[in-house]
Amino acid sequence: MSKLYDVIIIGGGPAGLSAGLYAARAKMSTLIIEKDRNGGQIVTTEDVANYPGGIEEETGPSLVARMVEQSDRFGAERIKGKVLDVDMSGDIKIVKCEEATYEAKAVIIATGASPRKIGCPGEKELTGKGVTYCATCDGAFFTDLEVFAIGGGDTAVEEAMFLTKFARKVTIVHRRDELRAAKSIQEKAFNNDKIDFIWNSEVAEIKGDGIVESVVFKNRETGELTEHFAHEDDGTFGIFVFVGYIPQTDLFKGKLEMDKTGYIKTDEEMATAIPGIFAAGDVRQKSLRQVVTAVADGAIAAVQAEKYIDNKFEH
Ligand code: NAP
Repeated sequence: MSKLYDVIIIGGGPAGLSAGLYAARAKMSTLIIEKDRNGGQIVTTEDVANYPGGIEEETGPSLVARMVEQSDRFGAERIKGKVLDVDMSGDIKIVKCEEATYEAKAVIIATGASPRKIGCPGEKELTGKGVTYCATCDGAFFTDLEVFAIGGGDTAVEEAMFLTKFARKVTIVHRRDELRAAKSIQEKAFNNDKIDFIWNSEVAEIKGDGIVESVVFKNRETGELTEHFAHEDDGTFGIFVFVGYIPQTDLFKGKLEMDKTGYIKTDEEMATAIPGIFAAGDVRQKSLRQVVTAVADGAIAAVQAEKYIDNKFEH
């Protein structure tokens, strides 16, 4: 028989790690299940300037490493595993992974969101061969090369600035004629000599034989197609895609209420409509998706899970 936990947390990003810390500290038996590396999206960013109390030169990986250490210290168990199904129908929730099945009195969903793809021909085939979604992970591979950052939000503009540390030149390609990013972030990019812009344009195709060799941009106003080729001496260039995120909620479709874009609806206490099932962090419908709001969600969800368990099982 599988071990019965008080709380199972699905996802080991800031929301999940914070929930793990609070749950374990409240002496609940706690299991965090993460399918990839811990940390979620924040480990893909180098600059975490706006997390209150962050140390100087804080990076995503350094912040997450401390969160992991802290939740471990309080006794939260962590395993690597892919959750295939969650049976939420009974009082005891059943979490089925590839390798094993786990049971819990409460489940906190903190599965976050993953990078949206452009969806153009060549993107899939050339991912990892010049097309990437993570500047922190792959920026150094493009030292002294040219790179394109696709998107106009905070992520695209911030990561484009980070990429200027490595790349010879960074061109932001945005589908409209003004950026979505916060004005303060925009200003820094406009003042950066290494950053250029291509406006009103989308990526129509990415081409290359085993490595990115050219990209075709389509001007959305004129319909004109322009093919950009790698400089002869370089042979390749980078395409960094930052066009937003998609919530990781496929597992819960039809089981939990979601908004039209797939984010899980909760009340202010992180509770879903199913007793004992909570959601925290970027996976939740909310107005501000930041590390600071994710960790707050995680803390609330853990405290509410504890109250729920006390009421439901202890009396
Ligand atoms: P986002 O705000 O959703 O922006 C996505 C960008 O990609 C938009 O400019 C959008 O264009 C563009 N886009 C979407 N689909 C596209 C497609 N198929 N082809 C080309 N372009 C496409 O996503 P984000 O920048 O990743 O930010 C996500 C959240 O995290 C936001 O709430 C953001 O504020 C937050 N964030 C905050 C910080 C910070 O505070 N320092 C840093 C990073 C992220 P349109 O503008 O035309 O829609």
